[in-house]
Amino acid sequence: MITLLMAVLVNALLMSLALVVGVGIRARSGLQAWQFMLLGQAAGFTLLIAATLVLPRLLATLGVTALSASASAMVLTACRFLSLPVPRRWLVAVPLLLGVAHFAALPDQVLATGVANLTIGAQVLWGSWLLLQGAAGVRWRWLCGVAAAANGVMTLARAVLVLGWPAVYPNFITPHPLNLTSLLLLNASLVLGTMGFLLAHRDAAEQALVRLASLDTLTGLLNRREWMGRAGRALGSGAGTADPGAVLLMLDLDHFKRVNDEHGHPVGDEVLRLTGETLRTVLRASDLVGRYGGEEFCVLLRQCEPAAFERLDARLHEALAGRCREVLGFDVNFSAGAVRVQAGETLAAAIARADDQLYRAKHAGRARTCCADGVL
Ligand code: GH3
Ligand code: MG
Ligand code: MG
Repeated sequence: MITLLMAVLVNALLMSLALVVGVGIRARSGLQAWQFMLLGQAAGFTLLIAATLVLPRLLATLGVTALSASASAMVLTACRFLSLPVPRRWLVAVPLLLGVAHFAALPDQVLATGVANLTIGAQVLWGSWLLLQGAAGVRWRWLCGVAAAANGVMTLARAVLVLGWPAVYPNFITPHPLNLTSLLLLNASLVLGTMGFLLAHRDAAEQALVRLASLDTLTGLLNRREWMGRAGRALGSGAGTADPGAVLLMLDLDHFKRVNDEHGHPVGDEVLRLTGETLRTVLRASDLVGRYGGEEFCVLLRQCEPAAFERLDARLHEALAGRCREVLGFDVNFSAGAVRVQAGETLAAAIARADDQLYRAKHAGRARTCCADGVL
């Protein structure tokens, strides 16, 4: 039995070491919390084994406190990966209160063991509940959640057993089937949990890369490459042919170089950020908006009727000027060109036509939108 306990202990230590080596000491905060959880398991079991040799009351209490702190670290891991608010007070208070209660109850082995298993089981189930809520389709959440749930249920079952039938409850270092099953389950849940949270870590890194590769960092809009890809696919799937068809709108801020020269580059950046915000606010979720170049933006408006386009265009001009006036104290206008995408027309051809209209708008005095036939 001690051999199995040692195996679990060494396993927890090795996994936390492997995490440090594999992901680095400055891992995401979620993985760091999981490392604490693994170290807490190792410390807890070391203390419980030591308590069978010396200072039983003190070391057993410290062991139980470490295991409860480790369960708190597991809840913290779940909160960090799921971006949930961290219930700090509870995470600290529960292990401390359990330590005090365990120490006070300890002359009564049954009561102390019952309280410890009840508390730790509840903590682990709390973590698994957070993980499994709305976990549909997220592999790592299932893996970690089910592993924790099995472990929590087993710990609660031990609490019920020791409180209800203390005569048959085995000392935790005797090779009783209950102890063997509990330890094997614990070991499995530590391994599966580590795998699950590593998967979560990888998923998060992958999502961050996808975001970095597809979004413009200043405005938060799609970058040119991503916008071109999505707009091309939208036109390919028939968005430009359906009645009333898609409208392609190209915008270019007016005298933007002057904004940079007169107010400084950071203010120019703020204007670009406000333009992105205005486009996101005014346009529909189904419209595709991207930053096409320095101060040029592209929008693919799906199924845009003439009257709707006219309203939208007026709102865009008003909203951008208004927002810049409000935040920066001066108006910023834009010129734009709009075309209705024709059946079978390529994205490049539609962009070239919209660019011609934009050129017309600049030459007609700026702060306006010129439209090709068919838009209005
Ligand atoms: P027009 O009305 O004819 O469009 O004049 P304009 O000054 O807006 O056009 P021009 O093409 O001469 O200048 C565009 C300026 O945009 C030049 C460039 O320095 C600036 N720019 C491009 N990208 C950024 C950026 O990310 N931040 C800032 N602050 N400025 C940028
Ligand atoms: Mg330009
Ligand atoms: Mg410009």
